[in-house]
Order: sequence, then structure tokens, then C-alpha cells
Amino acid sequence: MNPPPAEERRCLECGEPLSGRADKKFCNDMCRSAHNNRQITGARTPAVRHIHRILLRNRQILEHFLGNLETRRIPGRLLRERGFDFLYHTHIYETAKQARYFFVFEFGYLPLPNDWYFLVRRKVSAPS
Ligand SMILES: [Zn+2]
Repeated sequence: MNPPPAEERRCLECGEPLSGRADKKFCNDMCRSAHNNRQITGARTPAVRHIHRILLRNRQILEHFLGNLETRRIPGRLLRERGFDFLYHTHIYETAKQARYFFVFEFGYLPLPNDWYFLVRRKVSAPS
């Protein structure tokens, strides 16, 4: 068996061996656009992975305390004890009465006086 050529080029997206022009980076347009989309979303950068982990942990903590409840009041201490990071949320929802809910995906919290938090869950329907 011959050893593989010293510089066998492979598609940056799927890893298939490439043939043809020396500057070719992808086997086809599908691989090219898949790769470019990923670059745009930055899904693989360390910063995105780091923040995503924090968001997922925050979400897991809110889910833990809500359980099957629709709403619940809890002291912030309990959230912090589990490692909740108040710096990270996905979006803000402001009611007509100007109450500001911070959401982590489908779970939200409203800061109350004296370090209490009002937890809520929202049904989020994915776009079809
Ligand atoms: Zn490919």
C-alpha cells in the first residue's frame, strides 16, 4: 500500500479528500455554505462555548427551582448557591406596568425587593 500523499487536502467542512484546484477548500457548495454559516454564527469559538455553558447552567437552575410550577418566589441566595450567574440572560421582557423580567431561554425571573426573585416559565413556540 502506498502511503497517502504528504499533503492530501481535505474539505474543511466534511473532511473528504479534495481533488482539483490547489486552492479548493470544499468539496461542494453545500459544504462551503455550511462552513460559512458556522463561521457567521461563531458557534465554535471559545467565547460562544463559554457563554453558552453559563446560559445552560442558569437555565437548568431556574428549571430546577420551578419544577412543575408555573411561578415561584425564591430568595436570590438559593440561586447563587447553585452557581446562578445574574450577568447572563438571553432576553428581557418588559410588561405594560414596566416590570422587567430577565429570561434565560423559556425561564424568566423578576427581581423583587430584599433579594427575592419571582420565577416564571413561558411557553415558547419555535418558528415553523
Ligand atoms: Zn465537504
